[in-house]
Amino acid sequence: MKKVSLVIPMYYEEDVAKECYERVSKVLNNLENYEYEVIFVNDGSKDKTLEILEEIANKDKNIKIISFSRNFGHQCAVSAGLQYVTGDAIIILDADLQDPPELIPDMLKLWEKGNEVIYGKRKTRDGESRFKLLTAKMFYHILNALSDVEIPKDTGDFRLVDRKVVEVINSLPEHNKFLRGLFSWVGFEQKAFEYERKERFAGKTKYPLKKMMKLATDGIISFSNKPLKIVGGLGILSIILSTVILIYSILSFIFKWNNLTAGWTSIMVTITLFSGIILVSLWMIGEYVARIYDECKDRPQYIINKKINI
Ligand code: UDP
Ligand code: MG
Repeated sequence: MKKVSLVIPMYYEEDVAKECYERVSKVLNNLENYEYEVIFVNDGSKDKTLEILEEIANKDKNIKIISFSRNFGHQCAVSAGLQYVTGDAIIILDADLQDPPELIPDMLKLWEKGNEVIYGKRKTRDGESRFKLLTAKMFYHILNALSDVEIPKDTGDFRLVDRKVVEVINSLPEHNKFLRGLFSWVGFEQKAFEYERKERFAGKTKYPLKKMMKLATDGIISFSNKPLKIVGGLGILSIILSTVILIYSILSFIFKWNNLTAGWTSIMVTITLFSGIILVSLWMIGEYVARIYDECKDRPQYIINKKINI
């Protein structure tokens, strides 16, 4: 019998944990010809999330729990879940039921037809702020303009992947994994699956602007070197500009066009403009260096505090 594995990360999800379990197991129990397991990853929540999950796992052996020693972030939580799955088809789902588990049977049908990565593509997104929609759109635009692999728009981490794809992802030694990019980068038979993204079942988003920014920079930096080339371009541009200014000042000294010693404004403008360019360039380079440093330290992506039913 084939087996389906679900990976569901949870961070402060006490309001949705139980409902999530019930909705998911209802769908999975109705599947004929499939065994299943659900791996809940508690990403260092300090509320009742773990308690609720433990209670569930004590009664239901299909439910497995990995609990982190602290908050390591959504991508790490999903990566941890992927390390422990034992199924043939693996599904990544958000805990807040924005990605309806009722779609699983349809995704499985596509998988049975030989598709190896079936990624959820959001047709609509209910209950999300204009700001989030706008920034998300901008992000996918920039990411695709900069990166060499095509990363599908309106796609999150909701997807079904074949076991062999998960094995490839697990074998990558990267620490800052940008999963939705990697799942596209690995290739295999990819298939979009359109769906309507629902409103959060309860609670607030666990992705404040700061975490979104980190995810976005991880995405861009791990899939593109172009920001570094832009830095080079800016440097060349400044050299050309300053040469023009130099020639202009020499000529104006010879031909007495105007008295440049009074040129306080021009000096200030050039100094601030170029220090700005230099600092931005250093920042971009710094982002890469910081990631190289992270990879060199070779610390684990996450620390597991507790495992249940695994
Ligand atoms: N999440 C997590 N660790 C974090 C932040 C979020 O495991 O540091 C989980 C969260 O519990 C949820 C999923 O990641 O299951 C997506 O988060 P959320 O729904 O808050 O993001 P949004 O849908 O608002 O982008
Ligand atoms: Mg959500």
